[in-house]
Amino acid sequence: MKIRTRFAPSPTGYMHIGNLRTAIFEYLVARKYDGDFILRIEDTDQERKVDGAIDFIYDTLNLCGFLIDEGPMNEKEYGPYIQSERKDIYKKYALELVEKGHAYYCFCTEDELSAMRERANARKKPFLYDGRCSKLSKEKIEENLKNGVPYVIRQKMPKTGVTVVEDVIYGKIKIDNSILDDQILLKSDGYPTYNFANVVDDHLMEITHVIRGKEYLDQTAKYNLLYEAFGWEKPTYIHVAMVLGEDGNKLSKRNGDASFMDLYNTGYLPHAIVNYLVLLGWSPAINQEVFSMEELIQNFDEARVSKSSSSYDVKKLQWFNAHYIKEMDDETYLSWIKKYFTRDITGKSEDWINTLLLIYKRHLSYGAQIDEMTESFFQDVCLSDECKEFMESDPIIKDVVKAFKEEVEKMSVWSIENISEAIMHVKESIGVKGKLLFMPIRIQASGLMHGPELADTLYLIGKDKILERF
Ligand code: GLU
Repeated sequence: MKIRTRFAPSPTGYMHIGNLRTAIFEYLVARKYDGDFILRIEDTDQERKVDGAIDFIYDTLNLCGFLIDEGPMNEKEYGPYIQSERKDIYKKYALELVEKGHAYYCFCTEDELSAMRERANARKKPFLYDGRCSKLSKEKIEENLKNGVPYVIRQKMPKTGVTVVEDVIYGKIKIDNSILDDQILLKSDGYPTYNFANVVDDHLMEITHVIRGKEYLDQTAKYNLLYEAFGWEKPTYIHVAMVLGEDGNKLSKRNGDASFMDLYNTGYLPHAIVNYLVLLGWSPAINQEVFSMEELIQNFDEARVSKSSSSYDVKKLQWFNAHYIKEMDDETYLSWIKKYFTRDITGKSEDWINTLLLIYKRHLSYGAQIDEMTESFFQDVCLSDECKEFMESDPIIKDVVKAFKEEVEKMSVWSIENISEAIMHVKESIGVKGKLLFMPIRIQASGLMHGPELADTLYLIGKDKILERF
């Protein structure tokens, strides 16, 4: 049997990293078993729909390096892949369930439902539809349909016994049927509910592994009853625990949590994000953190996904990103970092700019840091209190500054090599080393306590500027 997984986002134009992590797991399971990875758009809640959201989802998955085998933009025989274009399919299957006695028309008005809800509230019980429409006579149903009375179709739940859900991560879960609501399958506007559409689609699209957020685990008893009512084979379920924000709350746009695109636009590399996210909740069997896509496909094991939620940690993500920035070859790095570098470079040579950007390759955590990091090359030096304090902390510092200035004045060729040599001469003539040697020169030249390699930095600032600042 061919393994088939699907990513089924709603087209909201926003993908938080928890959603993306689910997509990664789905993708890896599909690839690992030589299967198919399907994209399905779940837009039955038309209010959440945003224009351009499908392009956005494709862009996100493409950036992450995921090959989509089937989806709305590359349809195959299981389409359409957008739920709003499948309305007739859901209706047909809902009617099949009515026919089989597992579902029924419900003509209850909003007032009747409110009264039921109020009664449940008064008894401090959760609201469950009381099933009155399941008892309507055939004639009454036909009459209502003929008169165009609005209706929904509800699933008829068993009232006794238990339904068992089997999940790869959470094992066997038993749900008491008595707590299951006769849920709506088809709404009065003809749209299916998520709870119905996902089952019909997963079956018709021959999905073998359903990987999704743990918040759907409790609902799965209802889905299993639908599979049984239709006589369909159930998929393998893999429910994954949530990714929480740094504050311990659920991730959301409203909370201001960074989405994949926010991270991408501030200079996080897609594969660094993927590598970081896959380890949120999955622990590899081998002692390794950095994984190429190929290695992920080989090593990913859905059975080693954790039961407990994990927390987003931007520092750890930055560690991965810094690693992948260092791994880039210089040419790739330069064309990438230039997207984030917005300083006024009039009068600077290409060589100067490239040297400047390259010395920061080892220091960046993400792309958008580059402007701030290179500030001292574009602005006048203004010493912070911390710098001033250091410069006055030892009388020898003045001698270091003076000696270095003399070295620079003597220098005929301005090169990184000669600058390194000049620093060494100061070391020998004054008899200082380490912090007392490097820090005064760096602060005097750049106004900063820390930075990349000193000789490179001085070279880029330029001889005239150095003499001026010293
Ligand atoms: N549309 C659902 C969501 O975005 C998909 C859940 C599922 O994978 O079944 O949460």
